[in-house]
Amino acid sequence: AYNFNAGPGPVPEPVLIRARDEMFNFEQSGAAVMELSHRSKLYESIHFQAMEQIRQILDVPDHMEILFLQGGATLQFSMAPRNFLRKGQTGTYVLSGSWSEKAEKEAAYFGDTSILSSSKEANYAHIPDTDYSQAPDNSAYIHLTTNNTIFGTQWQDIPVNTTEIPVFADMSSDILSRRIDWTNVDLAYAGAQKNAGIAGVTIVIISKDLLAKAEDGPPSTSYPVHADKQSLYHTPPTGAIYITKLVTDWILENGGIDGMEQRAKAKSDMLYRLIDNSDGFFRGHADTHSRSSMNVTFRLENERLEKQFLDEAADKGFMGLNGHRSVGGCRASIYNAVPPEHVEALCSFMEDFRSRS
Ligand code: PLP
Repeated sequence: AYNFNAGPGPVPEPVLIRARDEMFNFEQSGAAVMELSHRSKLYESIHFQAMEQIRQILDVPDHMEILFLQGGATLQFSMAPRNFLRKGQTGTYVLSGSWSEKAEKEAAYFGDTSILSSSKEANYAHIPDTDYSQAPDNSAYIHLTTNNTIFGTQWQDIPVNTTEIPVFADMSSDILSRRIDWTNVDLAYAGAQKNAGIAGVTIVIISKDLLAKAEDGPPSTSYPVHADKQSLYHTPPTGAIYITKLVTDWILENGGIDGMEQRAKAKSDMLYRLIDNSDGFFRGHADTHSRSSMNVTFRLENERLEKQFLDEAADKGFMGLNGHRSVGGCRASIYNAVPPEHVEALCSFMEDFRSRS
């Protein structure tokens, strides 16, 4: 099948093959990866190598810690304000889609929130114009979503932070697909199930400065506690971290972050070119300057034609092309693991469908 699911999405095929071959008798120990104690040396080698390789791929500086947590990106919506939003402060949000709305809603349980910018009135077809210098002086942080999975928009560049306010970024759907300038991000988080492995582990990258400023509170949701214990405060999702480790091996074998960036650009260019040259048959949802290299969203002339397109696509083995239930239409998610040949096959099918309609 050609897997274009929005998440969980495909895992690189060499990773699946390697997992099949080595995970059930890991390092000839007689135990499967998921049977290892998280306190064992064998498991620790997986855990710390996965962290180190994420650091290497994303060039994460030494003043930032990498954590493996659970609860998905969704738990980060509340964990970030629980640790950093104090009385008298406001959590400042850029609304660029449904996930940023959800993040802001969760934060409102912990304190005041403010909206710095929003493109809701344009049905989130573009990244909102945003000027950090307009953030309230008492902002605890500015929160943005780097890639909007549902609407298919992406910050082409993460804004340069000219303020003293820390920036928090939800990178769930584009982590490990492009280079990050860490001078402009103080806390990043992402569920692994799109670009970094399988569901179960959430990657958090956080500066030590922030860790030092976190509010006291329950240890289970305390960033400093998890950092202190190197993400072994409680049982980590060992199987999911193992797959993340294999995904980082695969990224390093395939050109590292530059390789992933080029791969994403080549695949998304292919689809956007087809959409732009279809005489309006396929209509991209995102404005050209905000297009995502991870989720390509488009519509056809009417819902009847869309249904026919999606039904035929499913018959031909194209999986997950329906848009998110909240917006409809079509969406091709082309995360790192999607081979370029699968995008070529999708383009051929789209051309063929158009020529017959
Ligand atoms: N943020 C973004 C941008 C997402 O795309 C998603 C899931 O698709 C989430 C957050 C929620 O992630 P999780 O399901 O890991 O909680």
